[in-house]
Amino acid sequence: MPQNSRRSFLKDLSVGLGAFSIANPLPDLAAEAVPKTPRKLGIALVGLGNYSTKQLAPALESATDCYLSGIVTGTKDKESVWRAKYGIKKANTYNYENFDSIASNDDIDIVYIVLPNSMHAEYTIRAAKAGKHVICEKPMALNAAEGQAMIDACKANGVMLSIGYRLHFDPNTIEIMKLAEERPYGPIKYVQSEAAFAIGNNLDAWRLNRELAGGGAVMDMGIYCIQAARYATGEEPIAIRAQETKTDWGKFKEVDETVTWQMEFPGGAYSNSTTSYNLRANRLYVSYAQGAALLEPATKYTGIKGRVFRGQNPVRTLEVQTVNQQERQMDGFARGVREGIPSIVSGEEGLRDMKVIDALYRSLATGGKRVEI
Ligand code: NDP
Repeated sequence: MPQNSRRSFLKDLSVGLGAFSIANPLPDLAAEAVPKTPRKLGIALVGLGNYSTKQLAPALESATDCYLSGIVTGTKDKESVWRAKYGIKKANTYNYENFDSIASNDDIDIVYIVLPNSMHAEYTIRAAKAGKHVICEKPMALNAAEGQAMIDACKANGVMLSIGYRLHFDPNTIEIMKLAEERPYGPIKYVQSEAAFAIGNNLDAWRLNRELAGGGAVMDMGIYCIQAARYATGEEPIAIRAQETKTDWGKFKEVDETVTWQMEFPGGAYSNSTTSYNLRANRLYVSYAQGAALLEPATKYTGIKGRVFRGQNPVRTLEVQTVNQQERQMDGFARGVREGIPSIVSGEEGLRDMKVIDALYRSLATGGKRVEI
């Protein structure tokens, strides 16, 4: 979405959020233009792992503009369990081999890719060729070249592409974006973003396998830090320096464990971020010339909260908002598909992060040298 449209979207959204109860879903910005109750769009989840099971499928039960109409799984046992739980037709059940025949299924408008990272590009491109709109989980791909190929495939097949950046639907995160946009405390000087968790001891986990994950903590959690630095400044980084620390060479022999990096922004802001699979951190701090903002936690599904400061004095509390980020994200995309409005978390938005990740790994490969993005 062009920056101006995005700005007016944020403005409209904040007006809407002020007027609506926070328990309500996103205000339907185009409600007045739609005369009758529109059809709910059918979503097929591809890959029935943790995120699909615990977050996306439950969110689809309360969604207003879309519903769970299909599943794609490589695990036979999951088929009957999911069909019974969500009332999914047998004809709407696919596996990875017959996935392409989804093209002829009118119950499925949108395919949501929730697979290990290395499978995102392949299944997004196959879904696009099947004529289905696509939501793809983060990171959209293993690198920018793959991300570009996904965008090209969606354009060539006339379908929309969105990335699973649920935080763009969290009201407190939207407040951070507005502070970047409106700059009530002057220019942005510094952003600190941290996103990390301890991955556990299952050495078979795909997240520890380079071929499936493409990288380690950077790909999985570091992408939240990159997103945060970008939306907290409202700018695209121009250069990066990255450093890696590894303490467990066995567990992390294929992927990165802990990475810290600094980015330069064209307006003069500077960011410092840390991600890891071996410690816990979840925080966003933004320093403005005359104030600051803090979100802590900054990336959770629920419970994101923080404060805004003028100078060093707290002037506003960003209270916990009881919204369902995933429901808003999927409803927002479904409405966009119906009305022909591109996603605010488009493939292009995902590609910007992939370019930063490419540059980050180039910097690591050169021992931390400054790399232009
Ligand atoms: P899981 O490991 O829990 O699930 C992945 C699923 O993919 C598996 O259950 C399996 O489903 C399918 N799969 C197909 N091939 C393979 C393979 N070779 N190895 C492992 N699984 C395979 O992962 P998550 O659900 O945690 O993550 C999936 C994606 O979602 C990732 O890209 C991740 O980054 C993203 N994610 C995003 C979050 C967000 O907040 N936006 C939060 C969590 C994850 P089946 O048995 O049905 O075939």
